[in-house]
Amino acid sequence: MPTPDRLSVRQAQERILASLQKTVLKTEKIRLSQALGRILAEDLLSPSDVPAFNSAAMDGFAFRGASMDLAKAQSLKVVGHSYAGHPFMGKLAEGECIGIMTGAVVPDECDTVIQQEDARFSEEPSIRIPAGTVAVGDNIRPIGENLKKDTLLLRSGTRLKPQHLGLLASVGLDDIPVFRKLSVAVFSTGDELCPIGKPLEAGRIYDSNRIILIGLLKQMGCNVQDMGIIEDSPEKLEKALKEAAQKADAIITSGGVSVGAADYTKQVMAKLGGIDFWSVRMRPGRPMAFGKILSGNRETLLFGLPGNPVAAMISFLFFVRNALLVLMGTTPQYPQPITAISSTDIRKKTGRTEYQRGFTHFQDRSLHVSLTGNQGSGIIQSLTDADCIICLPEEQGNVKAGEPVSIYLLDSLL
Ligand code: AMP
Ligand code: MG
Repeated sequence: MPTPDRLSVRQAQERILASLQKTVLKTEKIRLSQALGRILAEDLLSPSDVPAFNSAAMDGFAFRGASMDLAKAQSLKVVGHSYAGHPFMGKLAEGECIGIMTGAVVPDECDTVIQQEDARFSEEPSIRIPAGTVAVGDNIRPIGENLKKDTLLLRSGTRLKPQHLGLLASVGLDDIPVFRKLSVAVFSTGDELCPIGKPLEAGRIYDSNRIILIGLLKQMGCNVQDMGIIEDSPEKLEKALKEAAQKADAIITSGGVSVGAADYTKQVMAKLGGIDFWSVRMRPGRPMAFGKILSGNRETLLFGLPGNPVAAMISFLFFVRNALLVLMGTTPQYPQPITAISSTDIRKKTGRTEYQRGFTHFQDRSLHVSLTGNQGSGIIQSLTDADCIICLPEEQGNVKAGEPVSIYLLDSLL
């Protein structure tokens, strides 16, 4: 097997994105209440003006101000009320007003609302408006103030969060075009792996990668096909990859891609399609396989991640996630780092990107970051203790306490 390419992180990210076609997923229409986390498949325009009527912005009194001299004190007779959801049904004459609540319909003939606190109660059922307290047009939310009919609400490719659903609800849309969920098959490779729930025999370890990867995929809104643990056997691996390629849009495996490891994985992957083995200049997570499995007339993307759990998760976050987002129909965005001040010295070799696990705290009006203990690529606790990943670029050497570093908040990657 030839020596794998040595790529920088950015080169690997770009090669992955360059090899993807925009999604070919089918679309479907679903109820708004089911749409959280789904990806919009069309641009959505507002079907109406919001609000659809002039409404009061304050509790107070609505009246016909245009014909009055509001620079002078005025007196108005209260002839009724407009409550939110219960409009005033009559007509107001000059010199009359109605009590009105926030969000209630302002009658067509009214042009002004005075806030309750500014009005003075005189003899029932009248109010007094002190000179100069209110101007014509005050405290009214006009029709279409929030949104005009046909305004672009959300673009195709938007991943729907609660606030997006709220916007669509505010215009009454309930038939939402979204992409079908991306289907991703996941399996772990390695003779040493034991599934959770089974007693651990000597020399074996529990499979922790699969549950991490499945969790990450579920959080992204993928349909996961859990294919369990596959032994280091060429036949079993070939069978698993063919089966996965038939039923999924993408396959994620972990283990078996490092140089000198049980090498069948690489041979089998290479046999089944166009797979490249890369050595990425990064830590943790150097080895990676990327390419396509060809099965019948289907091409299924394959990401072969490293076996160590921290390496597998970091590789997922910085390589796989963006690629899946593209396949799911969204626009890829590299996650944005932010700057924090390192609280400690950090040892770092030049010539590779390092993703160290850290936790942040805010002090003296700036963000500081400390390392989470042992940074070994098998130490999952370095991730559970962390709220961020410190990203030290290739050219960076040792970091001194007090120097700025780039970090990615973990929540921004999930
Ligand atoms: P490999 O690349 O297959 O040689 O795996 C590298 C290291 O990661 C070895 O120590 C494996 O035992 C470990 N490893 C591989 N797969 C998993 C897994 N699914 N869960 C936990 N550790 C794993
Ligand atoms: Mg292995």
